[in-house]
Amino acid sequence: MTAAALSTVLRKEICEIELVESDAIGIVGVGEATIPAIHDFNRKIGLDEQDFMRRTNATFKLGIEFVDWAKKGDAYMHPFGHYGFNINGVSFHHYWLDQNRRGNTAQLGEYCIPFVAGKAGRFALPLSDPNSVLSTYSYAFHFDASLYAQYLRHVAEQRGVTRTEGRIVDVALDGEGGFINSVRLENGQSIAGDLFIDCSGFRALLIGKALGVDYESWQHWLPCDRAVAVQSRNSDTLDPYTRATALKAGWQWRIPLQHRTGNGHVYSSQYMDDDEARTLLLENIEHEALAEPRVIRFTAGKRQRMWKKNCIAIGLSGGFLEPLESTSIYLIQAAIMKLIERFPDREFNAVDRDDYNAQIGNAFEQVRDFIILHYKATSRDDSEFWRYCRDMAVPDELDYKMRAFRESGRVVFSKRELFIEPNWISVLLGQHVIPKTTDLRVDCTPADKIKTQMARMQEVIRRAAASMPTHEETIARYCPADSTKIES
Ligand SMILES: Cc1cc2nc3c(=O)[nH]c(=O)nc-3n(C[C@H](O)[C@H](O)[C@H](O)COP(=O)(O)OP(=O)(O)OC[C@H]3O[C@@H](n4cnc5c(N)ncnc54)[C@H](O)[C@@H]3O)c2cc1C
Repeated sequence: MTAAALSTVLRKEICEIELVESDAIGIVGVGEATIPAIHDFNRKIGLDEQDFMRRTNATFKLGIEFVDWAKKGDAYMHPFGHYGFNINGVSFHHYWLDQNRRGNTAQLGEYCIPFVAGKAGRFALPLSDPNSVLSTYSYAFHFDASLYAQYLRHVAEQRGVTRTEGRIVDVALDGEGGFINSVRLENGQSIAGDLFIDCSGFRALLIGKALGVDYESWQHWLPCDRAVAVQSRNSDTLDPYTRATALKAGWQWRIPLQHRTGNGHVYSSQYMDDDEARTLLLENIEHEALAEPRVIRFTAGKRQRMWKKNCIAIGLSGGFLEPLESTSIYLIQAAIMKLIERFPDREFNAVDRDDYNAQIGNAFEQVRDFIILHYKATSRDDSEFWRYCRDMAVPDELDYKMRAFRESGRVVFSKRELFIEPNWISVLLGQHVIPKTTDLRVDCTPADKIKTQMARMQEVIRRAAASMPTHEETIARYCPADSTKIES
């Protein structure tokens, strides 16, 4: 992603880019679910959506369904869309809460088109007409991460990036300043440069091993530290959403692609061993496994600094947050875009570097807090893991957000945050964080009038969703998997 994006904006005469990768090591290859922000990245590097989807076996994603999180038997969705319409300037969820207290049993999701369409297995591209309800949602993709990496490598090479295959075995620093001078490969080749971007994954070869930037662990808030992943055969139908099902000591993902389904069980090794985690995963997958499950270890957290000297960590070398809200690829994209804005010259001015570190650090913390909310807002007490999560202290900022919502139904967020009101509403209400009061202005409109308006909204949304083709029909017409994929 980094090489493809930099080669799109930096002409070769200005900046030569060299990508060093080791086929023997390979990529982690399990990041398959995205959020709508991926459109910006793909657009900026000039990908054609249909071409990209065909080459990566992609499907459409309208949100994430969370099963068994607040309590067993519960389910809600975090959809990529708005709930209802604001009435008299007041957010819709206040009216929904009020009606709910008056006995209206409709789920919040019934007022949100991606929820209704997703659950019905339907998908159509949103319309641009702001007067249509079909313009009130967005979408993302499930794709094969290895094919996406190959595709972008191809894009990068076409734009002048030199790719060198080989294993880095040593990093040479200049004696005085501690800047990186070059990396040395196993075959003895030395590659020098002005700026080094560490995309070496969990190994963090440059930022961690060579420059010694420490890793800040957030494991006390996010105790899951392993994942066991396996691919399986597909169902006959492809749900246009990711599913995240809470289990005894973590949770399981299910991501349907065109040719197979990605599954994984994220768990805490403190509360479950690898064998039990693997067994549970295999018991819960819906169809035959296509390979042996693979265990991946991690620690939730981030580097204390993403940028030190002439080295910038992007991707897993910079930090990792479990894929509960499909945010890792987004954090990579955010880092790349910020780097492009702050692209250094050989002076490496400290102001830009510090600003970069502060902003990317904040982006990680905001995503972290949103993920912690899923664990904290639970009444599950059926395992030690869940009792720990329910009782743990959370970061101050999240604590404030939860208290503010409980008091008044207000969502506190700044415009620069990735997750805004509808996102927080989905998870807070989905996990039964119920406000004591609603906006006073709700009482200014007669309850019967609100009831009628809400019934109308529900009907408009139901009809619009029913008018969409099925997810499979849209894929077959728009982006069927390409059998002539790029050779690696
Ligand atoms: C369990 C799990 C599930 C995930 N699910 C999602 C998801 O649903 N959505 C999402 O957005 N993200 C997800 N992610 C994150 C996503 O997979 C990664 O963020 C993404 O793949 C980027 O990884 P990376 O490039 O930083 O590291 P890697 O994929 O590990 O790539 C590291 C690269 O460095 C090279 N390398 C390493 N060492 C050397 C060396 N010594 N010499 C030369 N080359 C070297 C390797 O060859 C490779 O090319 C998930 C991650 C995990 C662990």
